[in-house]
Amino acid sequence: MLVVMQAQATEEQIRDVCARIEQLGLKAHAIPGSLRTAIGITGNKGAVDLGILESLPGVAECIPVSKPYKLVSRELKPEDTIVRVATPLGDVAIGGRHVAMIAGPCAIESREQAFAVARHVRDSGCKLIRGGAYKPRTSPYSFQGLGEPGLKILADIRSEFGLGIVTEAIDSETLDLVEQYADVIQIGARNMQNFSLLRRAGRARKPILLKRGMAATLDEFLMAAEYVMAEGNYNVVLCERGVRTFSDFTRNTLDLAVIPAVKARSHLPILVDPSHGTGKRSKVLPLSRAAVAAGADGLLVEVHHDPATALSDGTQAILPEELVHLLAEVRQIAVILQRTVN
Ligand code: PEP
Ligand code: MN
Repeated sequence: MLVVMQAQATEEQIRDVCARIEQLGLKAHAIPGSLRTAIGITGNKGAVDLGILESLPGVAECIPVSKPYKLVSRELKPEDTIVRVATPLGDVAIGGRHVAMIAGPCAIESREQAFAVARHVRDSGCKLIRGGAYKPRTSPYSFQGLGEPGLKILADIRSEFGLGIVTEAIDSETLDLVEQYADVIQIGARNMQNFSLLRRAGRARKPILLKRGMAATLDEFLMAAEYVMAEGNYNVVLCERGVRTFSDFTRNTLDLAVIPAVKARSHLPILVDPSHGTGKRSKVLPLSRAAVAAGADGLLVEVHHDPATALSDGTQAILPEELVHLLAEVRQIAVILQRTVN
Protein backbone atom coordinates (compact mmCIF):
# COMPACT_ATOMS: atom_id res chain seq x y z
CA MET A 1 0.00 0.00 0.00
CA LEU A 2 1.08 3.47 -0.86
CA VAL A 3 -0.30 6.69 0.60
CA VAL A 4 -0.06 9.60 -1.80
CA MET A 5 -0.17 12.96 -0.04
CA GLN A 6 -1.72 16.04 -1.62
CA ALA A 7 0.74 18.45 -3.23
CA GLN A 8 -0.03 21.06 -0.59
CA ALA A 9 0.10 18.65 2.39
CA THR A 10 2.04 20.09 5.33
CA GLU A 11 5.01 18.49 7.10
CA GLU A 12 2.80 18.00 10.12
CA GLN A 13 0.14 16.16 8.11
CA ILE A 14 2.84 13.88 6.67
CA ARG A 15 4.16 13.21 10.18
CA ASP A 16 0.64 12.44 11.43
CA VAL A 17 0.01 9.91 8.68
CA CYS A 18 3.38 8.23 9.40
CA ALA A 19 2.56 8.12 13.11
CA ARG A 20 -0.83 6.51 12.39
CA ILE A 21 0.84 3.88 10.22
CA GLU A 22 3.39 3.12 12.95
CA GLN A 23 0.57 2.83 15.52
CA LEU A 24 -0.77 -0.02 13.41
CA GLY A 25 2.56 -1.82 13.94
CA LEU A 26 3.76 -1.06 10.40
CA LYS A 27 6.71 0.94 9.09
CA ALA A 28 6.18 4.21 7.22
CA HIS A 29 8.65 5.47 4.60
CA ALA A 30 8.01 9.06 3.58
CA ILE A 31 9.59 9.64 0.16
CA PRO A 32 9.42 13.26 -0.98
CA GLY A 33 8.96 13.82 -4.71
CA SER A 34 9.09 17.00 -6.74
CA LEU A 35 5.28 17.31 -6.77
CA ARG A 36 4.15 15.42 -3.69
CA THR A 37 5.29 13.10 -0.93
CA ALA A 38 4.41 9.43 -1.10
CA ILE A 39 4.47 7.22 1.99
CA GLY A 40 5.38 3.59 1.43
CA ILE A 41 4.15 1.07 3.99
CA THR A 42 6.13 -2.06 4.84
CA GLY A 43 5.93 -4.63 7.59
CA ASN A 44 2.52 -6.05 6.72
CA LYS A 45 2.50 -9.82 6.28
CA GLY A 46 -0.63 -9.86 4.16
CA ALA A 47 -3.27 -7.46 2.88
CA VAL A 48 -4.27 -4.82 5.40
CA ASP A 49 -7.26 -2.54 5.36
CA LEU A 50 -5.78 0.90 5.56
CA GLY A 51 -8.92 2.67 4.36
CA ILE A 52 -8.81 4.70 7.56
CA LEU A 53 -5.72 6.51 6.27
CA GLU A 54 -7.62 7.87 3.29
CA SER A 55 -9.66 10.14 5.51
CA LEU A 56 -6.67 11.74 7.24
CA PRO A 57 -5.94 15.40 6.48
CA GLY A 58 -3.55 15.93 3.56
CA VAL A 59 -4.02 12.46 2.04
CA ALA A 60 -4.82 12.43 -1.69
CA GLU A 61 -5.27 8.68 -2.14
CA CYS A 62 -4.23 5.22 -0.96
CA ILE A 63 -3.21 2.86 -3.73
CA PRO A 64 -2.26 -0.80 -3.53
CA VAL A 65 1.19 -1.49 -4.98
CA SER A 66 0.94 -4.23 -7.57
CA LYS A 67 4.61 -5.27 -7.52
CA PRO A 68 6.34 -7.37 -4.84
CA TYR A 69 8.80 -4.52 -4.41
CA LYS A 70 7.33 -1.31 -3.08
CA LEU A 71 9.92 1.25 -2.04
CA VAL A 72 12.02 0.50 -5.10
CA SER A 73 9.11 0.90 -7.49
CA ARG A 74 8.22 3.79 -9.78
CA GLU A 75 4.72 3.58 -8.40
CA LEU A 76 6.07 5.00 -5.17
CA LYS A 77 8.22 7.64 -6.85
CA PRO A 78 7.58 8.51 -10.49
CA GLU A 79 10.69 10.66 -10.89
CA ASP A 80 14.27 9.36 -10.97
CA THR A 81 16.13 9.17 -7.69
CA ILE A 82 19.36 11.15 -7.73
CA VAL A 83 21.90 9.85 -5.21
CA ARG A 84 24.34 12.57 -4.19
CA VAL A 85 27.81 11.76 -2.93
CA ALA A 86 29.82 14.55 -1.32
CA THR A 87 33.55 14.44 -2.10
CA PRO A 88 36.28 17.00 -1.35
CA LEU A 89 36.42 17.60 -5.14
CA GLY A 90 32.71 18.43 -5.18
CA ASP A 91 29.38 16.60 -5.16
CA VAL A 92 28.82 13.69 -7.51
CA ALA A 93 25.20 13.18 -8.56
CA ILE A 94 24.13 9.73 -9.77
CA GLY A 95 20.87 9.49 -11.72
CA GLY A 96 18.53 11.89 -13.46
CA ARG A 97 20.60 13.87 -15.96
CA HIS A 98 23.84 12.89 -14.24
CA VAL A 99 26.12 10.10 -15.41
CA ALA A 100 28.66 9.19 -12.72
CA MET A 101 32.12 7.78 -13.35
CA ILE A 102 33.77 5.53 -10.77
CA ALA A 103 37.22 4.22 -11.64
CA GLY A 104 40.03 2.51 -9.78
CA PRO A 105 41.83 -0.75 -9.18
CA CYS A 106 40.08 -4.00 -8.40
CA ALA A 107 41.91 -4.16 -5.08
CA ILE A 108 44.01 -1.90 -2.89
CA GLU A 109 47.29 -3.80 -3.09
CA SER A 110 49.76 -1.39 -1.49
CA ARG A 111 50.10 2.31 -0.75
CA GLU A 112 52.33 2.79 -3.82
CA GLN A 113 49.95 0.97 -6.18
CA ALA A 114 46.82 2.68 -4.83
CA PHE A 115 48.37 6.17 -4.92
CA ALA A 116 49.69 5.63 -8.45
CA VAL A 117 46.24 4.64 -9.72
CA ALA A 118 44.50 7.36 -7.69
CA ARG A 119 46.65 10.06 -9.28
CA HIS A 120 45.57 8.90 -12.73
CA VAL A 121 41.92 8.68 -11.67
CA ARG A 122 42.01 12.25 -10.34
CA ASP A 123 43.85 13.52 -13.44
CA SER A 124 41.26 11.91 -15.71
CA GLY A 125 38.57 14.06 -14.09
CA CYS A 126 36.78 11.35 -12.08
CA LYS A 127 35.74 12.31 -8.57
CA LEU A 128 35.08 8.80 -7.26
CA ILE A 129 37.65 6.04 -6.90
CA ARG A 130 36.84 2.37 -6.42
CA GLY A 131 39.10 -0.25 -4.82
CA GLY A 132 38.51 -3.21 -2.55
CA ALA A 133 40.13 -3.57 0.85
CA TYR A 134 38.08 -6.75 1.30
CA LYS A 135 37.92 -8.99 -1.75
CA PRO A 136 35.42 -11.83 -2.20
CA ARG A 137 37.64 -14.31 -4.07
CA THR A 138 36.68 -17.64 -5.61
CA SER A 139 39.79 -19.28 -4.15
CA PRO A 140 40.72 -19.02 -0.47
CA TYR A 141 44.37 -18.95 -1.60
CA SER A 142 43.96 -15.81 -3.74
CA PHE A 143 44.74 -12.34 -2.43
CA GLN A 144 41.91 -11.45 -0.06
CA GLY A 145 42.59 -7.72 0.23
CA LEU A 146 44.55 -5.74 2.83
CA GLY A 147 41.62 -5.32 5.21
CA GLU A 148 41.62 -2.27 7.47
CA PRO A 149 45.12 -1.13 6.40
CA GLY A 150 43.63 -0.95 2.88
CA LEU A 151 40.79 1.25 4.18
CA LYS A 152 43.37 3.54 5.80
CA ILE A 153 45.15 3.87 2.44
CA LEU A 154 41.81 4.83 0.89
CA ALA A 155 41.30 7.45 3.61
CA ASP A 156 44.73 8.89 2.79
CA ILE A 157 43.83 8.94 -0.90
CA ARG A 158 40.71 10.89 -0.02
CA SER A 159 42.68 13.56 1.78
CA GLU A 160 45.56 13.64 -0.74
CA PHE A 161 43.52 13.71 -3.97
CA GLY A 162 40.02 14.71 -2.84
CA LEU A 163 38.48 11.60 -4.37
CA GLY A 164 35.35 10.05 -2.86
CA ILE A 165 35.77 6.39 -1.87
CA VAL A 166 33.72 3.45 -3.17
CA THR A 167 34.69 0.20 -1.46
CA GLU A 168 33.15 -3.16 -0.70
CA ALA A 169 31.89 -4.69 2.53
CA ILE A 170 31.79 -8.49 2.39
CA ASP A 171 29.96 -9.14 5.66
CA SER A 172 28.32 -7.29 8.55
CA GLU A 173 31.58 -6.97 10.51
CA THR A 174 33.47 -5.41 7.63
CA LEU A 175 30.50 -3.16 6.92
CA ASP A 176 30.88 -1.60 10.38
CA LEU A 177 34.44 -0.67 9.45
CA VAL A 178 33.85 0.16 5.78
CA GLU A 179 31.08 2.57 6.81
CA GLN A 180 33.63 4.67 8.69
CA TYR A 181 35.87 5.12 5.63
CA ALA A 182 33.68 4.87 2.54
CA ASP A 183 31.58 7.49 0.80
CA VAL A 184 29.70 4.68 -0.96
CA ILE A 185 29.50 1.12 0.37
CA GLN A 186 29.60 -1.59 -2.29
CA ILE A 187 27.74 -4.88 -1.85
CA GLY A 188 29.17 -7.40 -4.30
CA ALA A 189 27.48 -9.80 -6.69
CA ARG A 190 28.14 -12.80 -4.43
CA ASN A 191 26.38 -11.05 -1.58
CA MET A 192 23.35 -9.78 -3.45
CA GLN A 193 21.13 -12.20 -1.55
CA ASN A 194 22.98 -12.07 1.77
CA PHE A 195 19.87 -10.80 3.49
CA SER A 196 21.43 -10.03 6.88
CA LEU A 197 24.11 -7.98 5.13
CA LEU A 198 21.46 -6.17 3.07
CA ARG A 199 19.57 -5.35 6.26
CA ARG A 200 22.74 -4.03 7.88
CA ALA A 201 23.39 -1.94 4.75
CA GLY A 202 19.89 -0.57 5.15
CA ARG A 203 20.88 0.81 8.54
CA ALA A 204 24.09 2.40 7.23
CA ARG A 205 24.34 6.16 6.81
CA LYS A 206 26.14 5.94 3.47
CA PRO A 207 24.77 5.23 -0.03
CA ILE A 208 24.83 1.58 -1.10
CA LEU A 209 26.12 0.38 -4.47
CA LEU A 210 24.35 -2.93 -4.97
CA LYS A 211 25.73 -5.22 -7.65
CA ARG A 212 23.53 -7.71 -9.44
CA GLY A 213 24.10 -11.34 -8.52
CA MET A 214 25.60 -13.38 -11.32
CA ALA A 215 22.47 -15.52 -11.57
CA ALA A 216 19.91 -13.03 -10.33
CA THR A 217 16.71 -12.25 -12.18
CA LEU A 218 15.56 -8.67 -12.42
CA ASP A 219 12.94 -9.23 -9.72
CA GLU A 220 15.52 -10.76 -7.37
CA PHE A 221 17.82 -7.80 -8.02
CA LEU A 222 15.09 -5.29 -7.21
CA MET A 223 13.99 -7.26 -4.14
CA ALA A 224 17.57 -7.10 -2.84
CA ALA A 225 17.42 -3.31 -3.16
CA GLU A 226 14.06 -3.43 -1.38
CA TYR A 227 15.76 -5.09 1.62
CA VAL A 228 18.11 -2.12 1.94
CA MET A 229 15.36 0.47 1.52
CA ALA A 230 12.99 -1.31 3.89
CA GLU A 231 15.47 -0.61 6.69
CA GLY A 232 15.38 3.10 5.88
CA ASN A 233 18.40 3.65 3.61
CA TYR A 234 16.91 5.13 0.44
CA ASN A 235 20.25 5.93 -1.21
CA VAL A 236 20.67 2.82 -3.28
CA VAL A 237 22.49 2.63 -6.62
CA LEU A 238 22.08 -0.55 -8.65
CA CYS A 239 24.92 -1.96 -10.76
CA GLU A 240 24.70 -4.42 -13.65
CA ARG A 241 27.95 -6.42 -13.80
CA GLY A 242 27.11 -9.28 -16.11
CA VAL A 243 25.34 -12.56 -15.56
CA ARG A 244 26.44 -16.11 -16.21
CA THR A 245 25.30 -17.60 -19.50
CA PHE A 246 26.52 -20.28 -21.93
CA SER A 247 28.34 -17.60 -23.84
CA ASP A 248 31.96 -18.16 -22.85
CA PHE A 249 34.03 -15.68 -24.82
CA THR A 250 33.62 -13.12 -22.04
CA ARG A 251 33.85 -13.63 -18.26
CA ASN A 252 30.15 -12.80 -17.88
CA THR A 253 27.44 -11.63 -20.27
CA LEU A 254 26.74 -7.97 -19.73
CA ASP A 255 22.96 -7.61 -19.71
CA LEU A 256 22.47 -4.10 -21.02
CA ALA A 257 18.80 -4.76 -21.70
CA VAL A 258 18.30 -4.69 -17.95
CA ILE A 259 18.86 -0.91 -17.96
CA PRO A 260 15.60 0.12 -19.65
CA ALA A 261 13.86 -2.71 -17.77
CA VAL A 262 15.02 -1.28 -14.43
CA LYS A 263 14.07 2.22 -15.53
CA ALA A 264 10.54 1.07 -16.33
CA ARG A 265 10.10 -0.52 -12.91
CA SER A 266 12.18 1.54 -10.53
CA HIS A 267 13.23 5.09 -9.75
CA LEU A 268 16.69 3.96 -8.59
CA PRO A 269 19.80 4.78 -10.64
CA ILE A 270 21.67 1.93 -12.32
CA LEU A 271 25.36 1.81 -13.17
CA VAL A 272 27.14 -0.62 -15.45
CA ASP A 273 30.41 -2.40 -14.66
CA PRO A 274 31.90 -3.34 -18.05
CA SER A 275 35.06 -4.70 -16.37
CA HIS A 276 33.51 -7.65 -14.55
CA GLY A 277 30.85 -7.72 -17.25
CA THR A 278 33.39 -8.74 -19.89
CA GLY A 279 36.58 -9.67 -18.04
CA LYS A 280 38.61 -8.35 -20.97
CA ARG A 281 40.43 -5.02 -21.25
CA SER A 282 39.68 -4.66 -24.96
CA LYS A 283 35.93 -4.95 -24.39
CA VAL A 284 35.63 -2.31 -21.66
CA LEU A 285 35.53 0.70 -24.01
CA PRO A 286 32.89 -0.62 -26.47
CA LEU A 287 30.64 -1.83 -23.66
CA SER A 288 31.06 1.47 -21.79
CA ARG A 289 29.84 3.32 -24.87
CA ALA A 290 26.91 0.95 -25.22
CA ALA A 291 25.98 1.19 -21.54
CA VAL A 292 25.77 4.96 -21.55
CA ALA A 293 23.92 4.91 -24.87
CA ALA A 294 21.42 2.48 -23.33
CA GLY A 295 20.73 4.87 -20.46
CA ALA A 296 23.09 3.77 -17.69
CA ASP A 297 23.48 6.34 -14.91
CA GLY A 298 27.21 5.75 -14.73
CA LEU A 299 30.09 3.34 -15.07
CA LEU A 300 32.21 1.40 -12.59
CA VAL A 301 35.50 0.68 -14.31
CA GLU A 302 38.66 -1.11 -13.19
CA VAL A 303 41.91 0.66 -14.04
CA HIS A 304 45.52 -0.15 -13.14
CA HIS A 305 48.83 1.54 -14.01
CA ASP A 306 50.55 -1.85 -14.32
CA PRO A 307 47.91 -4.54 -14.93
CA ALA A 308 50.50 -7.27 -15.51
CA THR A 309 51.46 -7.12 -11.82
CA ALA A 310 47.90 -6.68 -10.46
CA LEU A 311 47.00 -9.06 -7.63
CA SER A 312 43.46 -9.45 -8.96
CA ASP A 313 41.60 -8.89 -12.23
CA GLY A 314 44.60 -7.57 -14.18
CA THR A 315 43.24 -8.88 -17.49
CA GLN A 316 40.20 -6.62 -17.31
CA ALA A 317 41.90 -3.48 -15.98
CA ILE A 318 42.24 -0.71 -18.52
CA LEU A 319 45.32 1.53 -18.58
CA PRO A 320 45.18 5.13 -17.34
CA GLU A 321 45.39 6.53 -20.89
CA GLU A 322 42.52 4.27 -21.92
CA LEU A 323 40.46 5.71 -19.08
CA VAL A 324 41.05 9.21 -20.44
CA HIS A 325 39.97 8.09 -23.89
CA LEU A 326 36.92 6.26 -22.51
CA LEU A 327 35.81 9.36 -20.62
CA ALA A 328 36.16 11.57 -23.69
CA GLU A 329 33.95 9.24 -25.72
CA VAL A 330 31.40 8.69 -23.00
CA ARG A 331 31.06 12.45 -22.50
CA GLN A 332 30.16 12.85 -26.18
CA ILE A 333 27.55 10.09 -26.00
CA ALA A 334 26.09 11.67 -22.87
CA VAL A 335 25.72 15.01 -24.68
CA ILE A 336 23.49 13.39 -27.32
CA LEU A 337 21.28 12.18 -24.47
CA GLN A 338 21.34 15.62 -22.81
CA ARG A 339 23.20 14.27 -19.83
CA THR A 340 26.41 15.31 -18.15
CA VAL A 341 29.23 13.11 -16.87
CA ASN A 342 30.68 13.72 -13.43
C1 PEP B 1 34.37 -5.82 -7.63
O1 PEP B 1 33.72 -4.86 -8.04
O2 PEP B 1 35.56 -5.73 -7.32
C2 PEP B 1 33.73 -7.16 -7.55
C3 PEP B 1 34.23 -8.11 -6.78
O3 PEP B 1 32.67 -7.24 -8.35
P1 PEP B 1 31.47 -8.33 -8.37
O4 PEP B 1 30.93 -8.38 -6.98
O5 PEP B 1 30.54 -7.75 -9.37
O6 PEP B 1 32.08 -9.63 -8.82
MN1 MN C 1 37.58 -6.96 -9.70
